Parts: sequence; structure tokens; C-alpha cells
Amino acid sequence: MSQEAPADNDALLRRHGLQVTAQRLAVLRAVSDRPHSTADDIDKVVRSEIGAISRQAVYDALGTLTEKGVLRRIQPAGSPARYENRVGDNHHHLICRACNRMVDVDCAVGETPCLTAADDWGYEIDEAEVIYWGRCPECVAAASASSGE
Ligand SMILES: [Zn+2]
Ligand SMILES: [Zn+2]
Repeated sequence: MSQEAPADNDALLRRHGLQVTAQRLAVLRAVSDRPHSTADDIDKVVRSEIGAISRQAVYDALGTLTEKGVLRRIQPAGSPARYENRVGDNHHHLICRACNRMVDVDCAVGETPCLTAADDWGYEIDEAEVIYWGRCPECVAAASASSGE
């Protein structure tokens, strides 16, 4: 995928059949600047940028962009949904249980093998969501430092 300059976001929205609005552009920019943010984080960034926008408008824009496939929504168990603009490659995520940091990880083995379920029960599968839970290196280091090892 190519680097997206701001002007390309206009084209991106149009390609997905969406009207280009300042709100949508601001939301899109906020998500590409800090992938895996929660709606709350995006809301703060967008409102610090364009001020005159309601929380509801930010949430609506996130909802529309996700529905149209411009953004991807990840819903980890027991934590707020996160948003990212890296879509369509079926990549997975690593989440730290201690500090909640989330990072991208490419599919475990080659070409989207994770779309091949052991038994698909006749479903036509187009996406697999895999989340690996654990502790990030910083949290592991902090824990072993505080236990005096
Ligand atoms: Zn951590
Ligand atoms: Zn991701």
C-alpha cells in the first residue's frame, strides 16, 4: 500500500462512496496518526484540532468510516473498541494485559491461512480476528525488575 498524503484521503472517501467532510477527514487523519486508538482518544484529538465538532459527530464519523471499510474496528474482550486504517490484510494484534498497548502482527503463516477454519460449517468466511494476549517487553522487564531479579 502506498503512503497516503492528506489529499489522498479525499479520494479514499470518494472511492468508498462517502461525501468528503471536514469531520470525516479529521477523524481519518487522527486514526492514521495513531492507529489502535479508542473512540475516546480519537474524539480528543479531533476536537483539539477542529473544535466545533460534537462528540456524537466524531462517533458517527467513526461508525460510518468503519461500516464502509475505510477503517477497521477491533473489539478486544473487556476493553473499548480500537480503530485503525490498516484494512483488508487480515493482520492480527498483540495486546499487553498490563498496559493495554496494542501492536500489529502479520498473519501467523503466509497468505491468510487463518481464513481456513478447521470446519467452516458452510459459512463463506471473509475475515478472521486473532488477538494474542500477554505482556509487552517493557511490562515484563518492569515486573522482573520489581521482583528483584
Ligand atoms: Zn505493557
Ligand atoms: Zn492493527
